[in-house]
Amino acid sequence: MERTYFDNSATTRMDRRVMEEMLPYFDQRYGNASSMHSFGREAYDAIELARERTAKALGATTREVVFTSGGTESDNLAIQGAAFANIAKGRHIITTAFEHHAVLHTCHFMGSQGFRVTYLPVDGQGLVDPEDLKRAMTKETILVSVMAANNEVGTIQPIRELGAIAHEGGSLFHTDAVQSIAKLPVDIASDNIDLISISAHKFHGPKGVGALCVRKGVKLRPVVYGGGQERGLRSSTENVPGIVGLGKAIKIGVSEMEDSVARMVAIRDRLIDGTLSSLEGCFLNGHRTKRLCNNAHFRFDLVEGEALVLSLDMKGFATSTGSACSTRSAETSHVLKALGVRPEDSRGSLRLSLSKFNTMEEAERFLGAIGEIVARLRSMAPRAARSGGA
Ligand code: PLP
Repeated sequence: MERTYFDNSATTRMDRRVMEEMLPYFDQRYGNASSMHSFGREAYDAIELARERTAKALGATTREVVFTSGGTESDNLAIQGAAFANIAKGRHIITTAFEHHAVLHTCHFMGSQGFRVTYLPVDGQGLVDPEDLKRAMTKETILVSVMAANNEVGTIQPIRELGAIAHEGGSLFHTDAVQSIAKLPVDIASDNIDLISISAHKFHGPKGVGALCVRKGVKLRPVVYGGGQERGLRSSTENVPGIVGLGKAIKIGVSEMEDSVARMVAIRDRLIDGTLSSLEGCFLNGHRTKRLCNNAHFRFDLVEGEALVLSLDMKGFATSTGSACSTRSAETSHVLKALGVRPEDSRGSLRLSLSKFNTMEEAERFLGAIGEIVARLRSMAPRAARSGGA
């Protein structure tokens, strides 16, 4: 059976060119970047090349790039780091109700540490209203954190405008760009970003490595203490192969972005239009146009998302009901809840997330399979539900 991977928001297949660049750093150039000998210098140079590539992709300088273990750690360092370092100025943080748990749970933690956190609402398509941010800003606000694009429904936020509002109010601006790197252009200076989180495994790099870009002059308190690597902001022996992979992946991702985005948009639109036009009781979640090039997120009446994902898996399609982090829990998605989707309606969710490796043929095969699967699952739904009684 042919297998099709439509779960690229969870993680992506590594690009072979990335893997090849990483390989020597496992068994030939395996030095510790802090060592003085030639092995150490090789590792150090490799990290610095990756730092240059990362900085270039984000419009930053090399001194502004801090390598971490991934998106989660970058979000923690940004939020905890900025909040604890700026406590003398204020104790107010603003974020949104539909951030990834790496941001939300960190903000909950900050709430337990004496900070006040405001959770901005989003509209029915997942957009933050800049006027809401203006109203929420106070003299005490030290950090605003809004994701560049949502991992479940793909809605893209007006980051530049939100960043400008944060700055006008004297606050720092952080964005979780884990889902948008190599899909949306970014330049931290013109986009008014002080802190930006990225994660290599979302753009065809390795898992377990990410970066936080920290604009010059931004004060952060470390989350991890130790040997003082990464200018004291992230101690621990550097993950050299991972960092090399991140650098290569971001370089490829950004230089090939135009072509790969155009391909993904064409496939995404075929999936959206084909599904909505051929099936009754099927809706698109998130914004129709302000949406990631690789995201199609549906809601089906009278179908359980888990049953849909399992049935599709049996036909060779890897999909998801929402975020990979929440799919193993039976809880309603906080993202759909923030969009105002009723819990009973959010149960039939299906996310298709693409990468540059997907093809139009795969989309056509999916469209050939989905109708029959949905019809079969609906025929098994309790009669009361089918007649609208439950
Ligand atoms: N932020 C967003 C928006 C994500 O989608 C994810 C992962 O799904 C993360 C953060 C966490 O990244 P990582 O898996 O690298 O810790």
